[in-house]
Amino acid sequence: MPESSPRDPYPRRPPYRAAGGGQRPRSAARPAPRPRADAGEQLGFGGMPEKLFVCTPSKLGAYTDCPRRYRFTYVDRPRPAKGPPWAHTSLGASVHLALRAWYDVPPGRRAPEAMAALLKAGWVTEGYRDAAQERAAYRMALGWLEGYAAGLDPAQDPVGVERTVATTTATLSVQGRADRIDERAGPDGPELVVVDYKTGRTGLDADDARGSTALALYAVAARRTLRRPCTRVELHHLPTGTVAAHTHTDESLARHVRRAEETAADIVAAERAVGGGTDPDEAFPATPGTLCRWCDYRRHCPAGAATPGGEPWEAVERVLREQPA
Ligand code: SF4
Repeated sequence: MPESSPRDPYPRRPPYRAAGGGQRPRSAARPAPRPRADAGEQLGFGGMPEKLFVCTPSKLGAYTDCPRRYRFTYVDRPRPAKGPPWAHTSLGASVHLALRAWYDVPPGRRAPEAMAALLKAGWVTEGYRDAAQERAAYRMALGWLEGYAAGLDPAQDPVGVERTVATTTATLSVQGRADRIDERAGPDGPELVVVDYKTGRTGLDADDARGSTALALYAVAARRTLRRPCTRVELHHLPTGTVAAHTHTDESLARHVRRAEETAADIVAAERAVGGGTDPDEAFPATPGTLCRWCDYRRHCPAGAATPGGEPWEAVERVLREQPA
């Protein structure tokens, strides 16, 4: 999930994107989007089976959050310029990089004290209000990481770290990078567990783990790629050191797959409609709400512009204020 998501303003992956630029206001003269030429997204010809819809869990999530945002990200070419980088995106990316690097350290040197160097090496500086806020965020993140590392078994290597897993369903070809995949003892032998790191300010509970289609797709893809059972998904919330977990059944995983296929069908229908002459704004409607505050494309979106935009450093400032003294 490389893109920042307004649903959780703390992304799972480094942003690695340029700030600002090309601030072209959206207007009625905007050219209709051209669907990309990704082979997996082409529509089938008459009488021929349609190709699988190629996607990541975050791509499907973008459409679920807001079809207009999906269009800006995945359909319009050239893609509208994003707004300036978010400090919370940088913070989340930095923490993820440190956790990934942790497993590159030899087991004998995996101690909480190692986190300072790992965090510093991958620190992403963009979006902070000033150097003082950035330093405070670094100290906060280091506290999270050292606390988290204290609970890890240094001798235990996961099956995968930032591991790409993939699967196909009746209509989808899904792939994505899981933060971590563990192997743990289950009632019938070793089982895989999908671990997703979270750094957002709100705590998470089992309903979040149960309801996440992205996590369920990772579980299905991990099963397929690594050829071992996988039913358990976990959200590891660094700020609170809590774990929200859910153990799926085959039925609940199948429900999530169906949901993902329905979302993909909606996307394909919208792209077809645009190809058939429907106004892109109509095919990909805006669904304004609280997410707009953190949307990268707010300035291109009249519907979202009604929501005041957040300052790039605002979410981090709130987290810093809520930290225990
Ligand atoms: S600003 Fe809001 S309505 Fe507009 S694309 Fe972004 S999330 Fe959707």
